[in-house]
Amino acid sequence: MSELAYKRTNVYEVADEKLMKDIFDYAEGYKKFLDEGKTEREVCAYVVEAAKAQGYVPFKFGQKLKKGDKVYYNNRGKNLYLIKIGNADVAEDGIRIIASHIDSPRIDLKQVPLYEAENIALAKTHYYGGIRKYQWTAIPLALHGTVAKKDGSVLNVKIGEDETDPVFYISDLLPHLAAKQSVKPLGEAIEGEGLNIWFGNIPYVGADNEKDKTVKENVLKILNEKYGLVEADFLSAELSLVPAFKAKDVGLDRALIGAYGHDDRVCSYPAYTALFDETSNEHTVMVVLADKEEIGSEGTTGMQCAVFTDLIDAIACSFGVSSAAIRANSKCLSADVNAAYDPNFPEVTEKLNSAYVSCGAGITKFTGARGKSGSSDADAEYIGFLRKLFDDNGVIWQTGELGKVDVGGGGTVAKYIAKMNIDTIDIGVAVVSMHAPYEVVSKADVYEEYLAFRAFIK
Ligand code: MN
Ligand code: MN
Repeated sequence: MSELAYKRTNVYEVADEKLMKDIFDYAEGYKKFLDEGKTEREVCAYVVEAAKAQGYVPFKFGQKLKKGDKVYYNNRGKNLYLIKIGNADVAEDGIRIIASHIDSPRIDLKQVPLYEAENIALAKTHYYGGIRKYQWTAIPLALHGTVAKKDGSVLNVKIGEDETDPVFYISDLLPHLAAKQSVKPLGEAIEGEGLNIWFGNIPYVGADNEKDKTVKENVLKILNEKYGLVEADFLSAELSLVPAFKAKDVGLDRALIGAYGHDDRVCSYPAYTALFDETSNEHTVMVVLADKEEIGSEGTTGMQCAVFTDLIDAIACSFGVSSAAIRANSKCLSADVNAAYDPNFPEVTEKLNSAYVSCGAGITKFTGARGKSGSSDADAEYIGFLRKLFDDNGVIWQTGELGKVDVGGGGTVAKYIAKMNIDTIDIGVAVVSMHAPYEVVSKADVYEEYLAFRAFIK
């Protein structure tokens, strides 16, 4: 099927009845996953529960692993490692790694967020990841996150997802008064400091003190009654505004799925479900669900954190082998999305080398920008290995570059893993309107991504 990958094959064009059913059934589980996990913490908690049900147990550093073990390492509730120890010699066979990320672009509250202007309570924000700011105005937003209180207790917040919940809002100008704004460059029409969240509008008329009869005080009173929060608790909180939309089928034929956060949950879901569904026990497999990819894979929960190599060291230590040997023989799929060819904007992609919706899992040899800068650029030999693997297993795949040369660019976790002397390549689902509050992918691509992962870890 490599010729088919070269020419590109539309999955829906060649799928038999069984494949069509598998694609559509699989999409239902994925949509549920999307609705349950809109932040890295929520995804982490969701997958931990699924892992426990599969017999995975928590791993502690210092613990020895043996063949057949299934463990998970929950890094601070935001970054998850699932490890299945296989029967093969881990030094000779290495580890099959699938690394995706579970953070998505969003709008975070600042640490001192609340203020009031003309009887409107608002909250200051700092956006997270690469967003096109104008897309985040005038849509329903939900408040998700965690508050760590002074007494050591930690509170999870989720407002705006239940049908009866209120939602939050960032305003934009009406066209009648937008003459000046409309002629600004798109990137300057809405400013970062203008992404203020509408929080409330009713003053606290029953307050004892005259100075407390404000809308802001009323908002604080509600937060206190509902969650026991005081204003200073925002200091030690991670609260984010995410789109309040649910995942839905798109198009009359239901071929596509619209949702917030396909980037990169559209790779995370196939990664862990492939691990759970693949019963072959040959290879040692590690599935990484990373945080902070959207801001450079930094911090304790990003892909650059030492916990990744610490876990490989722990495996090496358990079997009395060299960690360097394991890494030298390991293979990694950096599972992240690519930009889909969009007939509305054909000018940004080059037809021969872009990923097309519904044409299967997309391999990206290099990312980067301005002459592949910042990309780990996978070896031809490794792609040769994957070509055979996917073709032998009937996986429909394609190849795609992120846009035309010098039009833009981007990066993934691939380079941080490649740096550890591990063969790594990007493979992912083509996304329409990536980083928008509502992104679109093809059900067929999600399923082919899953089949590619199963073939890789089999
Ligand atoms: Mn991504
Ligand atoms: Mn992204």
